[in-house]
Parts: sequence; C-alpha cells; structure tokens
Amino acid sequence: MSKSLQAIRGMNDTLPEQTPLWRYFESKVSRLLDNYGYKQIRMPIVEFTELFKRSIGEVTDIVEKEMYTFEDRNGDSLTLRPEGTAACVRAVLEHGLTGGGQVQKLWYIGPMFRHERPQKGRYRQFHQIGVEVFNLDGPDIDAELIVLTWRLWGELGIRDAVKLELNSLGTSEARARYRAALVEYLSSRLSELDEDSQRRLKSNPLRVLDTKNADTQAVLVDAPKLVDYLDEESRVHFEGLKARLDAAGIPYTINPKLVRGLDYYSKTVFEWVTDKLGAQGTVCAGGRYDGLVEQMGGKPTSGVGFAMGIERLILMLETLEQIPEEIARQVDVYLCAFGEAAELAALALSERVRDQLPNLRLQINAGAGSFKSQFKKADKSGALYALILGDDELAQQVVGLKPLRGQGEQQTIAWDALSEHLATCVVQG
Ligand code: ATP
Ligand code: MG
Repeated sequence: MSKSLQAIRGMNDTLPEQTPLWRYFESKVSRLLDNYGYKQIRMPIVEFTELFKRSIGEVTDIVEKEMYTFEDRNGDSLTLRPEGTAACVRAVLEHGLTGGGQVQKLWYIGPMFRHERPQKGRYRQFHQIGVEVFNLDGPDIDAELIVLTWRLWGELGIRDAVKLELNSLGTSEARARYRAALVEYLSSRLSELDEDSQRRLKSNPLRVLDTKNADTQAVLVDAPKLVDYLDEESRVHFEGLKARLDAAGIPYTINPKLVRGLDYYSKTVFEWVTDKLGAQGTVCAGGRYDGLVEQMGGKPTSGVGFAMGIERLILMLETLEQIPEEIARQVDVYLCAFGEAAELAALALSERVRDQLPNLRLQINAGAGSFKSQFKKADKSGALYALILGDDELAQQVVGLKPLRGQGEQQTIAWDALSEHLATCVVQG
C-alpha cells in the first residue's frame, strides 16, 4: 500500500479482535470511578497551544519537543492535547465549576498525542484515563486516589506486578530553596554531568534527578535531598498520606528522585511502576498541583490527580494473561435458518427472544448458505449453541438447540419455551 494510505507511525488501529479487552478494561475503570463518586467530563481533543505552554511549562519534554502543533485556517495556533489536566482545568474554570470552593471529583478518557519515538508501550497517539480532584487539600484525597487504583489492580488481577513509588515535592517555596541548593551542588560538579543534564541544570534543574545517565546518577548520590528541604506543611501532609496507605495496607516505597516530568506538581507525587513491560514501566502517574489553577488565571484552588496509560495496562493484562474468559466469547447463540420461509420465522422469533432476554448475545445467520456452511459460521462465531430452523421445525413451531462446546445432546424446543430455556442455559449459565 502506498505510504500516504497507511496510518501515521505510532498511531494504531485497535482491531476488532482487540476491542473486547479494551472495553472490558474501560468498563471496569468507569464502574469503579462511578462507585467512588467521580463524575466524567469530556473535553475537546484540540486546544489553543497557549493552554499547554502555560500549564505544562515551556521547559518540559512535552512542550519543547513532543506537541502536535499546527495553525488552523484562522491562523490560530492549535495543539492536539498531549495530556488531560490542562484542558480539564481550563474547562472547570471556563464553566465556574470550582467557584466558591466547590469540590469536583472528575475523570476523563481519551486519546492523547505526543511526538515521541514509537516503541512498545510508547506511541504517538495513546490513550489515558485521568482523574482530577479540585478544592480538597488534605492527604485523605491523595490516599483515596491511590486506594482506588490499588483496588483496580486487584480487580484486573495485576496487583502483584505493580509497585507504588511516592515522593513529596513540597510547596513551590520549599522547592525553590531546594532547587538553589541542587544547582549549587551540581554546578560544582558540572563537568561530570551528561550534556542533557548540563542543559537542564539551567532550564529545569529538578529534571536532572530524572536522568538515565549512569555517570550523572553517580554524581546525584551525594546531592542534597528534597525531603530535607520540605516545609512543615508538606511534611505533615506527606506523613498523613503515608499513615493512610499504611492503614489501608498498601505497600509503597519512597523514591526521592521521583520528580515527574511536568512543572505543575507540588507536595505528593506518585507512580505505579511495573517490571513487566521493559523500559516503559510506568502505568499510572500523578500528584498534587495546588498552584496550577491560579497559574492559569483562576482563584487559588487545590488540585490532585493522576493519569493511567491504557495501552500499557492492556499490555500488562496480555503479558500476565489476565484476560477474562467471558470476553473471549462474543456470541451466546447463533441462529441458522434454511429456506426463505424459515428465515422469515427466524427473524420474528429472534426479535421475540431479544425482547425477553435483552442481555442475550444472539447472532442470526446472514447470507443464507448450506447446512454445512452455516454450521461452520456458527462454530467460528464462538457461540455456545446453534439454533436450527428448517422446514420441519417451522411446521412444528420448534427449533433445534445444538450445543457447540460439547455440553450434551441436541434438543428440540418449542418457540414459546425458547427464551425461558436459553435463560437457564446461557444467560445465567
Ligand atoms: P514516560 O516517563 O513513560 O514518558 P510521562 O511521565 O511522560 O511517562 P505522563 O505524562 O505522566 O507520562 O502520563 C501518564 C501515563 O500515560 C504514563 O504513566 C503512561 O502510562 C502513559 N503514557 C505517557 N506517554 C505515553 C506514550 N507516549 N505512549 C503510551 N503511554 C503513554
Ligand atoms: Mg513522557
């Protein structure tokens, strides 16, 4: 196929055989968030470029080199959203949802766009489920966000494969004091730092802590530690969070180098990481951003949230073979009809059954075909049973019910009794 007719590198189709797992995952998360009292919000995929520059920060990987930015026909600079927090804050402010200290517990789902080097677990269009909470400033809500993700990992069967890393970044004042100390220390050992870190030392020194370079990591061993610079309020907040996680029985490790890529975090930051996915090990990341709303022109409003990468979690489910049996099967019953009169009766019968059993996954054969070919399709559909309706069955107002997965003999069922019968052997069984 010519290149211009192919999908863009790093932007993937989710094929019909993959969508059941996606929908399973999405429905698990959305039900869980509903149950914890979070409400869904939907924002546009495109925003003014300025929004991301202002909120994410000019000196971040995202804004410096990852955004899909273009001019529209009005000459406005627009950007495909690289993450959800900025747009969520914009929407909340635009609609006055946090006015008067109103609490908001929100979540969203959708595609995000970053021009990164595509590899396993890293794509240019990827999908996140994100949660943002406004106007709650205690550690209890930080803990709730972690508790609910912990429950999700349990429900998905991947709890043993993820670990929680925690840190506190303090208030922006505490961080400024720390930054000064870090810059002083790193400047004294400038020649030992890798080139990227030397550059970051000027533009965004905390990001040096994030380095993957072994020599720079060695220099960091003796660097000042952020925890030693924490202000009293942040320290108490962090202790409160840890006490709650202990009470909930959620294991964690403190990672003093965890600073997160985005500028807007303060106090709590956390990541759920796994060693099952190679280099792309973070499946969910978040933290507190008490200064962001004000920075974007709103009244001082605390905020805390996280985002999880759906592709990485789907890869986890596949790698750990945590794919529930019920999603492997998409069809319960496949109805085969032979001859035009039987086809007409089959349509009416199947609609009656659907009225009575709205959850039944009943597929009716389309395109006619011989006994053999319809049976083959019934089997291939994955259905538990085939229903058979030919001239003989039509005359007697019955159907044949043939088990396709080795559960007993074929039976003959009267049309009137069909729904009741299917209810016992398929819907509940
Ligand atoms: P990373 O360090 O892996 O680049 P990040 O810090 O840039 O991650 P966030 O902006 O915090 O990521 O996004 C939250 C989550 O979204 C990540 O933990 C990850 O699961 C997922 N994610 C981020 N970028 C990508 C991507 N390019 N492809 C797939 N998933 C991604
Ligand atoms: Mg990144």
